[in-house]
Amino acid sequence: MIIKNVRILGGEAADIRIEDGVIAEIGQDLTGPQEIDGRGAIALPGLVDLHTHLREPGREDAETVLTGTQSAAKGGYTAVHAMANTMPVADTAGVVEQIWRLGQEHGYCDVQPVGAVTVGLEGRQLAELGAMADSAARVRVFSDDGKCVDDAVLMRRALEYVKAFDGVVAQHAQEPKLTKDAQMNEGVVSGRLGLAGWPAVAEEAIIARDCLLAAHVGSRLHVCHVSTAGSVEIIRWAKGKGWNVTAEVTPHHLLLTDELVEESPVGSYNPIYKVNPPLRTSADVEALRAALADGTIDIVATDHAPHPVEDKETEWAAAAMGMIGLETALSVVQEAMVDTGLLDWAGVAERMSAAPARIGRLSGHGRPLEVGAPANIVLYDPTARTEIKPDMFASKSRNTPYEGISLPGKVVATFLRGKATVLEGKLA
Ligand SMILES: [Zn+2]
Repeated sequence: MIIKNVRILGGEAADIRIEDGVIAEIGQDLTGPQEIDGRGAIALPGLVDLHTHLREPGREDAETVLTGTQSAAKGGYTAVHAMANTMPVADTAGVVEQIWRLGQEHGYCDVQPVGAVTVGLEGRQLAELGAMADSAARVRVFSDDGKCVDDAVLMRRALEYVKAFDGVVAQHAQEPKLTKDAQMNEGVVSGRLGLAGWPAVAEEAIIARDCLLAAHVGSRLHVCHVSTAGSVEIIRWAKGKGWNVTAEVTPHHLLLTDELVEESPVGSYNPIYKVNPPLRTSADVEALRAALADGTIDIVATDHAPHPVEDKETEWAAAAMGMIGLETALSVVQEAMVDTGLLDWAGVAERMSAAPARIGRLSGHGRPLEVGAPANIVLYDPTARTEIKPDMFASKSRNTPYEGISLPGKVVATFLRGKATVLEGKLA
């Protein structure tokens, strides 16, 4: 198969020949029995998400491994890390292998299970980290995401334990007592609306503590969904010390602010904007963009969090927290980072493919598009514009914050080891 006239990382147009799932040749005027016209599209290495909620097992009404990986493929992803807060929790070798096998069967993208840090995400005793690492799923990323490992002794032990198999602890940084009953970012807007605030310090205090713990035991820490300017300063400081700390930001924290809770295209108090960590201020957004551009924040991760309609279309206080994001991530990153001149497409490939694959130790993903690499490729038309409608998504859930908004770019095709999972913008 030949992909014709595609601009690799936005460079000069070239043809890519794929054979046996691998990039066999890159050049001009290549011909073959099956040709795909890539004119107008750029080619990026298949995207890798370090933070996806697939909801299976347990909440198949919100998402399944099948619909979640279809959603991922439509967003240009060839691999996702599936978070452990399923029912049952992915805290044993048996559960992570079950999720890994579901991923293998459904095939729209690779599914790499994340293992829970503590049994049942309860924060009381360490889960079977070693057994999950040794299982067929070969777990390397461990997280209680949705909850914070707030006990410093447990966090220290987890960081020590994962060193044995080159694992990483991915922390959802949220000091629980400072955020009890929190509904949105603590600030001017929460004051006006009378909603209980989620203060920046509740995130920053945990990140500072965990950076110190990771340095103390010589282990690898990854910070999930960084949302505040202060967190960026702490991570910059830790990296400056040479400590092994990486961090992610979500697309929504790069684009949206807490003012949407008060006034938005879909009214005020619309729970579509309720998410954890919450949308912050425009000053935070600016700091997050700068941090992603200068490498303080390593990657973009979606925190794709599907919820059924009845859990979102309810009053603010009762609504579930989270947004879907796999199918809009690349467009939002283009809007926030590329069209603003902060990143070029090589920078996007590093932050949405190479670096997340490195952090998650996924050797088959995130490789540069060159001869010999697995043909994990996304073709993306950055000149397209799409008005977002929730029913266009492959995800089972509809909780997108971008409804009615026009976003740049469109995923034209996605290839997983040479096999098309998406063609002409549709599932193949
Ligand atoms: Zn989280």
